[in-house]
Amino acid sequence: MKIIIIGGGIGGLATALSLHQAGIEARVFETVQSLTALGVGINIQANAVRELSELGLADEMAATGLATANLGYFNKHGQEIWREPRGRAAGYNWPQYSIHRGEFLMLLARAVRARLGEENLLLGHHLESFHDDGKQVTAHFIDRRTGERIHTEVGDALIGADGIHSVVREKLYPGQAPLHFDGMLMWRAAVETAPFLDGRTQAIIGHQGLRFVAYPMSGQAEKNGRSMTNWIAELRVPGDTPPRADWNKRVDKSAFVHLYKDWKFPWLDVPAIIDATESIYEFPKVDREPLAQWSQGRVTLIGDAAHPMLPTGSQAGTQAVMDSRHITRALQEEKNAESAFARFEAERRPLMSEITLRNRQLGPEAAMQVVEERAPGGFKNVEDVISKAEMEEITGSFKKLAGFDREQVNTRPPIVKPHA
Ligand SMILES: Cc1cc2nc3c(=O)[nH]c(=O)nc-3n(C[C@H](O)[C@H](O)[C@H](O)COP(=O)(O)OP(=O)(O)OC[C@H]3O[C@@H](n4cnc5c(N)ncnc54)[C@H](O)[C@@H]3O)c2cc1C
Repeated sequence: MKIIIIGGGIGGLATALSLHQAGIEARVFETVQSLTALGVGINIQANAVRELSELGLADEMAATGLATANLGYFNKHGQEIWREPRGRAAGYNWPQYSIHRGEFLMLLARAVRARLGEENLLLGHHLESFHDDGKQVTAHFIDRRTGERIHTEVGDALIGADGIHSVVREKLYPGQAPLHFDGMLMWRAAVETAPFLDGRTQAIIGHQGLRFVAYPMSGQAEKNGRSMTNWIAELRVPGDTPPRADWNKRVDKSAFVHLYKDWKFPWLDVPAIIDATESIYEFPKVDREPLAQWSQGRVTLIGDAAHPMLPTGSQAGTQAVMDSRHITRALQEEKNAESAFARFEAERRPLMSEITLRNRQLGPEAAMQVVEERAPGGFKNVEDVISKAEMEEITGSFKKLAGFDREQVNTRPPIVKPHA
């Protein structure tokens, strides 16, 4: 069986590596002319780190990212609402990594080139159209700079891993509603700072209207006594129409730095961090309505193409990796691509639709809004505002739903059996 993968992002590259591990031929087609380390930070939860480790990437992940030890929620005065251990510190057999998205991508691309060969990661190939004749899929590619048709590929099946603006999704389900806007704008960046808290905490500060997320994401910086701090400033804005959803759109800090002028805490000086940063990127918090169906015949969708979701609970990269493993198992065990995609979809779509909708209701971060509403001026003792049991209920139920409950991750059998 030969699989055509559209998109050389996290989902597409993880799928290529997984299929190769299962002994299934795969070829990746990516629009951009050269892969560069684009993006800023991303979190890969322990369930996906287990899968990447089973793909033989544990050492590269450890050398590139930073094993997160804690997740902390804070109010806008910098007071701690909740702190919980993460990854190995929480008893998982695998770490959670905070990692530079672009460096993670490069790491995956190196592995694809080494294992599948240079010829199976084709850059500068933008999918224009495809046709499923019931036996095979034929895909046509253009050079997006010129519009010229440059290649035609025939395979047994096609996987659309082409992200939030997926061409494959649009061809399968034309006339989709525009992106659904959550009303929040994100300004994303990374900057070297002094380490904060224990040097391994992901801090989420504020409430539904104004938030700031900061976490260290580089083991290399940690070795040098510094923190490569990924930060995201988030503001609720009026209107239903988001600005262009472009991961590479740069903005000036003058648009928002004043909103954080009072956010100077003993453990983190937010305005100073923003001031010290050079490149800042804007992206709206957007998702899409869950689809009633992902697959048609020998064509299906994974990752952001299938289920773009709000970044609540840091799930997008993690779930793209999990899709890559589930689709591989289905292709390994089912008799043909059509039944494999039907099985993959039955296993994954209901769950991803539920997470997508649940993320619109703030997911585990709902606790921060509860605290803001009950104690906007701050608190002496957080348990007077929200009980431990209420906090555990909010955060624990999300982990179960999103598939990174500790017992599930540690004890389930492997998803993919390597090809003998
Ligand atoms: C440039 C970039 C920067 C990002 N930065 C961040 C970040 O800082 N933090 C964060 O949390 N998330 C970021 N993301 C999103 C994050 O990577 C995804 O949400 C998540 O990893 C799911 O991955 P995916 O593979 O489904 O989609 P993506 O990672 O979006 O990958 C999709 C890929 O498909 C390619 N593609 C699109 N259309 C076609 C086509 N017609 N033919 C061929 N190829 C096509 C795109 O160029 C892209 O490489 C970024 C995505 C991109 C593309």
